[in-house]
Amino acid sequence: MPELPEVETVARDLQHRVAGATISRATVSWDRTIRHPQPPERFVAEIAGAVIRRVSRRAKTVLLHLEDGRVMTVALRMTGALIVAGAGTPPDPYARVVFELADGRELRYRDVRKFGRIGLWPGGGLRSVGAGRGARSRRVAEGGHRYRIGEVFSGHGPEPLQRGFTAERLAERLARRSAKLKTLLLDQSFIAGVGNIYADEALWRARLHPLRAADTLDAADVRRLHRSVRQVLREGIVNRGASFSDYVGADGEPGANAERLAVYRRTEQPCFRCGRPIRRIVVGQRSTHFCPRCQPEPVGSAAP
Ligand SMILES: [Zn+2]
Repeated sequence: MPELPEVETVARDLQHRVAGATISRATVSWDRTIRHPQPPERFVAEIAGAVIRRVSRRAKTVLLHLEDGRVMTVALRMTGALIVAGAGTPPDPYARVVFELADGRELRYRDVRKFGRIGLWPGGGLRSVGAGRGARSRRVAEGGHRYRIGEVFSGHGPEPLQRGFTAERLAERLARRSAKLKTLLLDQSFIAGVGNIYADEALWRARLHPLRAADTLDAADVRRLHRSVRQVLREGIVNRGASFSDYVGADGEPGANAERLAVYRRTEQPCFRCGRPIRRIVVGQRSTHFCPRCQPEPVGSAAP
């Protein structure tokens, strides 16, 4: 499943490829991909003619900011991909939504397992819905769906690569929680964008056991965790993300980060630091990989 580095890679690719492009027409071939507005015919009507101003990311979601202030969100979930296809490229049977661009290219939302969702929202979190942005944005707000883009992400925690995410801020948040570190790192309301791969990698790098309770970390532990989370995410972006199944960048190519991971899916292979075999346990129904020597088991833990 794409995490922060994979989604960031897609957003950066799209910024280069489709910023400034006009969406002349959209075709939806799997209705449930469209989250908002409803029905999907309305989404199709409202996206037609939109100009893409820039592309960014929040949490694990790609944001396409439109010239008129609206924002299209694309949550890739398990197998979603956004691919720019040149004119004349054969159709893709797994493309659930196709955005025809005025220059003849297509922006294709491909999703084999169909868990991903696309929404179109009024922009901002400050202005009232629809205010001063014409009839089109007022139509988006009809029918009881009054979410603006800011509200779509109101339940998400801080972005770990933003300047404001300091070790002190992480320490404050950890000190209030008794949850296991692995569980907490996967909690999108605690920290946005980290998933199973980068949680395991960050904990190995910080030499912290996945079952350690958050409120047992001392200041040095927190500093290592803070640095490690940011390092593994930054390295993931540099390597254009980790591809295990369907993840690809907007160029259709897989990322190179999978072979650079230290513990994720390296069960029984030697730890790069100490040579001990990497172990796999299940924490909160998620596979969890760690080194039993470098990441000592917490005292009194019921770790298997
Ligand atoms: Zn080790």
